[in-house]
Amino acid sequence: MKIQEHHARDIFQKYGIPVPDAEVATTPDEARELADKFGCPVIIKAQVLVGGRGKAGGVKLAKDSDEAFEKASQILGMDLKGLIVEKVLVAPAVDIDKEYYIGITLDRDRKQHVVIVSSAGGVNIEEVAEKTPEKIGKIWIDPAYGLHSFELRKMLFGAGFEPKVAIKAAGILKRLFTAVTHMDMSLVEINPLVLTTDGQVLAIDAKINFDDSGIYRNPELKVLKESEDTDPIEIEAHARGLTYVRLTDGNVGIIGNGAGLVMATMDEVNRAGRGIAKPANFLDIGGGAQAELVKNSLEVVLSDPNVKSVLINVFGGITRCDEVAKGLLEAIEGIELPVPVVVRLAGTNWEEGKKILEGSRFTPVESLEEATEKIVGWMTEKSSV
Ligand code: GDP
Ligand code: MN
Repeated sequence: MKIQEHHARDIFQKYGIPVPDAEVATTPDEARELADKFGCPVIIKAQVLVGGRGKAGGVKLAKDSDEAFEKASQILGMDLKGLIVEKVLVAPAVDIDKEYYIGITLDRDRKQHVVIVSSAGGVNIEEVAEKTPEKIGKIWIDPAYGLHSFELRKMLFGAGFEPKVAIKAAGILKRLFTAVTHMDMSLVEINPLVLTTDGQVLAIDAKINFDDSGIYRNPELKVLKESEDTDPIEIEAHARGLTYVRLTDGNVGIIGNGAGLVMATMDEVNRAGRGIAKPANFLDIGGGAQAELVKNSLEVVLSDPNVKSVLINVFGGITRCDEVAKGLLEAIEGIELPVPVVVRLAGTNWEEGKKILEGSRFTPVESLEEATEKIVGWMTEKSSV
């Protein structure tokens, strides 16, 4: 589960991580009032569950309260990578001397948490690993030993953190790790952690993902999960009983039967897509393929405006491919298919299934390779338009 920045900020505050004052506004007038309350300049930040808000125009500085009103009116209601902004965070702006990155996530290969830091944080963090890897530090946390200040400091110095920042960042990382273990976080990121011109070290952005399997242990998280702050498409999908996870920056809707098959399909789209085609979601329709279920799945996947093509990957076992094919045709009766959809059928009765789909609005294929070729072809056309 992902949560909004302002909720993550509140959790940071509870764990003693230094954050600026901040409050949420849902109207430009409220933003103006908060600007008056905090004193200007203030920073106005879109509260949506996507990264890269700064670059997309969702983070703006306002020098006085009239400008706070104006900037909040621009951000509220805007479409940020397919999500409509309904709330902004208003915070007194800080004067930044330098931006850093610190985070903790789970390394599933090593079965340990990994701490990742960089002395070149901010909106271009993705480029740092590629261009200046010496500015990145990593250590894995052995659960038997925990996390020690000396190893954190060594790593931070090694990655180019100035000593006075390194000492504070080490303290913040220890508190973050406490939060990670208490609340079953799968990822926590501060980007940027800043050194202000007056020498403070502050977390001015906050990102937390939780391991859904641990939510039952935290009553506070249950409340958050039920609040309106999750992706509206995910809420709709879950209401329809579908196992759906939305990804940011994808353009290919993925539907399959069986979690393993869906994950493998996503990997294959990523691999064959070479950056042109990327999975936009995970959707497992499970066993059986009643028309209603297929229809629900298609509707949910297509409601994501980032989706420009769809790959349906079905492996027929007990579920027969001809039944799935019939379900698919029934599913699109009366609904529009705004984007091309390729259907790969394999297993029991795949030939019958393929025949049923031939000449329909679906493009049936036999192998995943053919399916990804189609997808990459469509996405290449789109990107060259
Ligand atoms: P993101 O783009 O979604 O990661 O949003 P951030 O909250 O990280 O904001 C993006 C960028 O806006 C940061 O990297 C900062 O450079 C800038 N920014 C955010 N808050 C402040 C602030 O209080 N003062 C100044 N000067 N810049 C800020
Ligand atoms: Mn950020």
